Amino acid sequence: MFRTLDDVDVSGKRVLVRVDLNVPVENGRVSDLTRIERVAPTISEVADKGGKVILLSHFGRPKGRDAAQSLKPVAPAIANVLKRPVAFADDCVGDPAMVAVEAMKAGDVLCLENTRFHPGETRNDPDFATQLAALGDIFVNDAFSAAHRAHASVEGLARRLPAYAGRSMQDELEALTKILQTPIRPLAAIVGGAKVSTKLDLLGSLLAKVDVLLIGGGMANTFLAARGYSVGKSLCERDLLPTAREIMDKGTAKGREIVLPVDAVVAKRFEANAPSRVVAADGIGDDEMILDIGPRSIEYVCSVLARVETLVWNGPFGAFELEPFDTATVEIAEAAAELTAAGKIKSVAGGGDTVAALNAAGAADRFTYVSTAGGAFLEWLEGKALPGVEVLRVSSRPK
Ligand code: AMP
Repeated sequence: MFRTLDDVDVSGKRVLVRVDLNVPVENGRVSDLTRIERVAPTISEVADKGGKVILLSHFGRPKGRDAAQSLKPVAPAIANVLKRPVAFADDCVGDPAMVAVEAMKAGDVLCLENTRFHPGETRNDPDFATQLAALGDIFVNDAFSAAHRAHASVEGLARRLPAYAGRSMQDELEALTKILQTPIRPLAAIVGGAKVSTKLDLLGSLLAKVDVLLIGGGMANTFLAARGYSVGKSLCERDLLPTAREIMDKGTAKGREIVLPVDAVVAKRFEANAPSRVVAADGIGDDEMILDIGPRSIEYVCSVLARVETLVWNGPFGAFELEPFDTATVEIAEAAAELTAAGKIKSVAGGGDTVAALNAAGAADRFTYVSTAGGAFLEWLEGKALPGVEVLRVSSRPK
């Protein structure tokens, strides 16, 4: 249970709202408004209820003050989405921020400069968090995508003011909690992507929860090699073969079904439209590399989806940026989207590449929930406590 905007009267209060304004800016203009649109309902709700909305966000990874990573061009884009004026202050603490906040009236919106212009932000420096807290009466966090970081505007600040989840944070927490904490079984997980090494924690945590683990992408090659298949020139982490064997043994001991590709699309070069052929998993040539799973594997994955109730998906099945090696990802995404739309499964997907792949497949909007929070989504799936979320729990000490 988390504290939300339903638990607080914001009227007349200075409300520090942590958002994620890491939007793409090209030639001083915001080229994709998605992240702003996600937090707009929270901002509008607080403003409509007579709160003074003070927006806080990091932007990029500046080392100190850096005009190229200023939030200044983002403020007018927020104003356009909200259809109300948005003021801007040149700093997120100190006089510029204080003066701008003091000038605010009920319902006003103010955007403060990039929190990462101060080294205290990423260090979660207590003095910096206290300076931020001085600007507000309450804190609302609407940035799930930053919740895995114990930074001052995410964690330290929440310890200094009464803290609540904003609406987009609330949506994300409700969706992820419902589907993952108490899943309707059978539960299947797709783990794809390039490497096993970056997903060891994920595999461990999912094996504890899922009934079926579907492994795809470059990481499946390491598992195939661990089973004794020759994978030619494919991406393969040879040093992790014992780890892959251990994961499979553990899964089998727990009664999990672990599914590896039975066939593959192979090519001699890692490039779009490279000449390719379909081959069984035991027929890969020494000079070939696996770039996608094959048609029999796709069919099997789809048959698994047809017999489960819940699907969690992270990572593509193949090198989906290169046509036609996006085939498996696109076809399986479509199958999952159709089953979801027909009310047969619940589906949650997340992670940067996965969202890009599902969007390219035109499937994302039919999933039950798609999380755009890359790192935070993965850490949540890994079963890790997110510092920015823990401080919003009803059981955490209220102010
Ligand atoms: P990740 O960020 O770990 O989810 O990995 C996504 C990346 O994995 C994408 O860039 C894909 O191109 C890459 N990938 C997926 N399958 C393969 C494969 N069989 N060989 C090489 N790269 C792959």
